[in-house]
Amino acid sequence: MEMLRKEQNEPIFFVDAMLGNIAKKLRLMGYDSKYLADIEDDELINQVKKDHRIIISRDEDLIRKSLKLGLEAIFVKNRQEIEQFREIIKKSNLKNFEINGDRARCPNCNFKTESVDKKNIYKKIPSKILEHNDKFWECKVCDKIFWEGTHIKNLQKFVGKLNER
Ligand SMILES: [Zn+2]
Repeated sequence: MEMLRKEQNEPIFFVDAMLGNIAKKLRLMGYDSKYLADIEDDELINQVKKDHRIIISRDEDLIRKSLKLGLEAIFVKNRQEIEQFREIIKKSNLKNFEINGDRARCPNCNFKTESVDKKNIYKKIPSKILEHNDKFWECKVCDKIFWEGTHIKNLQKFVGKLNER
């Protein structure tokens, strides 16, 4: 199955409503991952067709329907998050996950975060956090600011485990 995609030849995803945690992690890892908590299957399929996304879902009916239409879909069987990611890696031919603030997308809205200078955001960030962090990123859509503590470190371990395989 050919899974190479336009943006830097990386796959882009549409994550089904039941798997919001996966969408958030994929975004932080830098993968364009659409996710809507409330969407009808037919609408989801329409959007996937348009953008050539890969569906990630736990819903067997949706997967079956999608595959029948010639769409790419990954059925996530496992309940454990780390195993779910292993299934996704295997089926989408992703080699290694990495956590890199400059590549990450906003976990809330999937928009690419941008590096931002400390002095431009100091009013929005508690001083303790400013003291202990040098790198910050901003989402221009939801205005959220991220730093290594939130953006990266939490996921470092998870990704380390995934890449162990
Ligand atoms: Zn955002």
